[in-house]
Amino acid sequence: MTVLSVNNVSKTYNANTANSVEAIRDIDFELDEGEFLSVIGPTGCGKSTLMKMVAGLVEPTEGEIGFNGEPITGPREEIGVVFQEESTFPWRNTLRNVEFGLQMRGVDKEERRERAQEIIELVGLGGFESNYPAELSGGMRQRVAIGRTLALNPDLMLMDEPFGALDEQTRIILGEELLRICRETNQTTLFITHSLTEAAYLSDRVLVMSARPGQIKEMVDIEIERPRDHNVVTTDEFNEINDHLWHILRDEAKQGFEQTAKVE
Ligand code: ADP
Repeated sequence: MTVLSVNNVSKTYNANTANSVEAIRDIDFELDEGEFLSVIGPTGCGKSTLMKMVAGLVEPTEGEIGFNGEPITGPREEIGVVFQEESTFPWRNTLRNVEFGLQMRGVDKEERRERAQEIIELVGLGGFESNYPAELSGGMRQRVAIGRTLALNPDLMLMDEPFGALDEQTRIILGEELLRICRETNQTTLFITHSLTEAAYLSDRVLVMSARPGQIKEMVDIEIERPRDHNVVTTDEFNEINDHLWHILRDEAKQGFEQTAKVE
């Protein structure tokens, strides 16, 4: 079943003004239930713009985004978002952070405690229920943020560089955890990353974008067998995929770099 359909979507910020920026041009793809799709591309190619449009926070200039067969016209409860930046509530402990959305939805206390506890176990935070974010590591805080989104059982989870602020080892561990979580929950996920390795390792497909205006350069199927763990990155099969992704991206990355340098 198709969860998300992005139909010939383009976005120009400040259209018809001297400051107009064509961020995205003619992006077209679908995402099926349970699928994990990563988006990679040079800085400034419109990855976050794409994510914000799917989240209903930014309106496309052209084209349409469909979700479960209906057009997206604004934020929706069934679409959960996890951002790179710190998004936990510092004044709530782990349990109360994870149950926040359920509380907002008016789920009664007993039911939301039970659901939050289940999710806390799922994201590997058992034993840390009463700790506040300041008492947790960056990786654990990101688990809390992921847990808070998953608690609402979203039909689609959007992740914008969720591990971007974390060190390499923590990224690897959380990547493995995310693989397991998505397998256990059949979570449909759209994931933005700068890391080719992360994209190849986690995804069913990788959408490679061109430099701005971001267009689809190539959609790459990642046919590595599941379940996977991080050891997969040492295999020849994986290295070939990684080389292929880098080959597609290399010229775009240079172009993106030059565009960014001009702006700065
Ligand atoms: P990425 O996430 O790939 O780095 P973004 O989606 O953040 O790219 O940005 C794509 C382009 O759109 C960039 O040139 C950026 O400067 C521009 N842009 C992003 N948001 C806005 C905005 N609100 N107003 C004007 N230009 C924007």
